[in-house]
Amino acid sequence: MRLNIKVSATDGQARRGQVTTARGSFQTPVFMPVATRGAIRGLSTHELASLSAKGGTRAEILLANTYHLMLRPTADVVEQLGGLHDFTGWGDRHMLTDSGGFQVFSLQPKTDDEGATFRSTYDGAKVKLTPELAVRIQERLGADIQMVLDVCAGLPASTTVLREALERTVDWAARAKAAHRRIEDQSLFGIVQGGDNLELRRESAQRTVEIDFDGYAVGGLSVGETREQMMESLEAAIEHLPSDQPRYLMGVGDPLSIIEAVARGVDMFDCVLPTRLARHGTLLTSEGRLNIKRAEYARVTDPVDPDCNCATCVNYPRGLLRHLTTQGELTAQILCTIHNLTWILSFVEDIRSAIESGTLETLRAATVQTWQQMSPERKGEGFPQ
Ligand SMILES: [Zn+2]
Repeated sequence: MRLNIKVSATDGQARRGQVTTARGSFQTPVFMPVATRGAIRGLSTHELASLSAKGGTRAEILLANTYHLMLRPTADVVEQLGGLHDFTGWGDRHMLTDSGGFQVFSLQPKTDDEGATFRSTYDGAKVKLTPELAVRIQERLGADIQMVLDVCAGLPASTTVLREALERTVDWAARAKAAHRRIEDQSLFGIVQGGDNLELRRESAQRTVEIDFDGYAVGGLSVGETREQMMESLEAAIEHLPSDQPRYLMGVGDPLSIIEAVARGVDMFDCVLPTRLARHGTLLTSEGRLNIKRAEYARVTDPVDPDCNCATCVNYPRGLLRHLTTQGELTAQILCTIHNLTWILSFVEDIRSAIESGTLETLRAATVQTWQQMSPERKGEGFPQ
């Protein structure tokens, strides 16, 4: 289904909107938490659904990884159990699946025109993923939005490598579009590649738009480049994307990159960052990163972030979180995950309000002040060792 975005307010290039799908609608800009194997680590989907920012913003769309689900428990099992919405308990809320491309290309697969052959990280079995198969698998997983199989080159990369990735991505995108048949209730997004080469980014965007997708993602970023290079590449791509369809920056989720990308017209984000940091005791706060393991918090009665209304901040002192985290208690990971996801929801809520009131520049300047020390995080979590 062709998605449209109804923009209710703009501030510069930033837009506040609502995306309508076959299932319903979700508000943008939006952050999608990552349920790698069908669950957020340490948090059930019903708990995730209950998280709420001060102004009532909740998680409306969840991302699951095709790579993991196709291998375990397999798309067949997920389909038999009613598709991802029923299988994960996420119910009637929105869900997006990636194509598996990012994980597969992290494994340095054998790639030819037909597809990518790799060894499963679960049992070493040889698996071949083609653009058609990626569509078919995601059809059975049943998310509302599926992504085309793309070729993602790590950075830095030569122009030859980036050109080859672009050509193959465009070719595979056209094949994915031709294979996409569940069009009444599933949307298919194209992915712009091109690395940090601005000419290639423009060309990739133009050629992907020519194929005509329901929405557009910018991929192959946060793979080793600086934030400045990331933003230049993003601008080059966005210039050529249609304004009436959603734009999604894949795998980017640190606060500064989010607000910088929103300021350039991005609507959707996903990243493992908030949940991964939480599991290591690193908390996102209005004053920046906080490492809860530090000895100085042992006797502190204050919450993690006095401005946060999550269950962790309302109920527990820093001293308890520090104790549980340093002792490796599972509950520490759960409490930190609740906080970090609620914090990101609140941050996105603040961005939406700022766009509506025309004050995004003020929030952007404050965000730069707080977060400029934090570099963009690399993606690729989730490989079992
Ligand atoms: Zn909190």
